[in-house]
Amino acid sequence: MRKKIVAGNWKMNTTPVEGVELFKEVAAKKGEVCSCVNFIVAPPYTHLSEIVKLSRGTGIGVAAQDCATEAKGAYTGEVSAQMIASLGVEYVILGHSERRQYYGETSATLNKKMEQAYANNLAPIYCVGENLEEREAGKHFDVVRKQIEEVVFNLTPDQFKKLIIAYEPVWAIGTGKTASAEQAQEIHAFIRKVLAEKFGDAANETVILYGGSCKPGNAAELFAKADVDGGLIGGAALKAEDFIAIGKGF
Ligand code: 13P
Repeated sequence: MRKKIVAGNWKMNTTPVEGVELFKEVAAKKGEVCSCVNFIVAPPYTHLSEIVKLSRGTGIGVAAQDCATEAKGAYTGEVSAQMIASLGVEYVILGHSERRQYYGETSATLNKKMEQAYANNLAPIYCVGENLEEREAGKHFDVVRKQIEEVVFNLTPDQFKKLIIAYEPVWAIGTGKTASAEQAQEIHAFIRKVLAEKFGDAANETVILYGGSCKPGNAAELFAKADVDGGLIGGAALKAEDFIAIGKGF
């Protein structure tokens, strides 16, 4: 039985004070949801220290939204995986489409970030997904396969066991346009098949999250699909009530 995960990517939203407030609301409402659901929040770097402290005893995991490619040194503005892990953070989102699109992250960048994450015991939440043009050209399977082969296939079997995948079609992110449950299932099953080509049966244990305009109204339909193990939530994770309601989709 795979873990059920609902993760909230706060992106560049909330001040630290607002973030603490949001976290407290989520923690207060978490009891309304089946204890079988694992919640994770990914606040901005500036909030991590405080939120990790608040998370103790709540069962809510904490993720960073990114980490540096390098271990340490003269890289102004960067935050290392070691710094993040030293706070008690357990997860790191890597390869989000916004990082790929706006900050030019390539598979080469992401291989280095993966290495840093694993060297510091952070479990990566690795994002894949095609853009609208690629979907319309029917290239989504090829795009996603490439994003997996070029990065995930470099992991050792042990590293692979800690990996979480998030399928986020770029055309569904922040657009209000969700992939249908059937479209999500189709590509999640494909992702699992590609993972199995390299890692065999271990792919049956990999948590694959769906992301892209996931909200209380469509979560249940998405999560009902065999290969959709939860969600990576953007906009709806900024309202505790919505985030919790998504958890009730299981
Ligand atoms: P939205 O839920 O706002 O579409 O964002 C999804 C996402 O990018 C999560 O990482």
